Amino acid sequence: MADIPPQQSFLTQIGRLLHSAAFLTTAVKYIHCPPDEGAEITFIGRSNVGKSTAINCLTQQTQLARKSKTPGRTQALNFFQTSGELRFVDLPGYGYSQATKHAEAQWAQTLAEYFKKRQSLRGSLWLIDIRHPMTKLDYVMAEWLMQFDFPVHILLAKADKISRGEGLQVEQNVRKALRPYLPNVTTQRFSSLKLIGIDECFKQISNWIYDGEE
Ligand code: GDP
Repeated sequence: MADIPPQQSFLTQIGRLLHSAAFLTTAVKYIHCPPDEGAEITFIGRSNVGKSTAINCLTQQTQLARKSKTPGRTQALNFFQTSGELRFVDLPGYGYSQATKHAEAQWAQTLAEYFKKRQSLRGSLWLIDIRHPMTKLDYVMAEWLMQFDFPVHILLAKADKISRGEGLQVEQNVRKALRPYLPNVTTQRFSSLKLIGIDECFKQISNWIYDGEE
């Protein structure tokens, strides 16, 4: 049997690790978060941007992130543990129309505490709809994220909805728009539906969790 090319075997490894993810716990307040050890990658995005679908896609599971959508878990941090040291953390979607001002304020406070204190945080995948990039709410989020110091990688979600050429142009515009807020931001096109950008996203995740290890 032919040897698997190193690149492919590496992506297969990451795929297997992510596939092992299972729901761990829900935290409404920072003190409810699991012990701060290993590595964590968070998912940020507006409600309906495709965050749950992306988590299901990256873990190759059909139901995993649906658990985050059960009542009581929508305004909470939801942790998914893999068989390794890695956890995915699904953060509450912002701009959720039914959220009260009080709930939004509490959400921001819990998140700020998480982002400030969390030693295991390696980076955030921030989903932005490729068809509606940089809305007013996205700018509010970008400005809010400036106070923290962790890497952000943008997934321009639902990239199947526009042509590749248009998508690349949007990518360039979004990078330019975000630079003043997040100078080291990186971007890519992504589609859970048409599997666009999955390997690229796997590579980003791997860079974060192995942090220069060969
Ligand atoms: P969430 O609120 O951010 O978790 O969003 P969901 O994952 O529930 O997705 C919201 C809607 O977008 C659903 O109708 C999904 O089927 C759709 N969706 C999610 N990902 C994609 C994608 O990559 N392409 C397209 N065309 N639709 C998607």
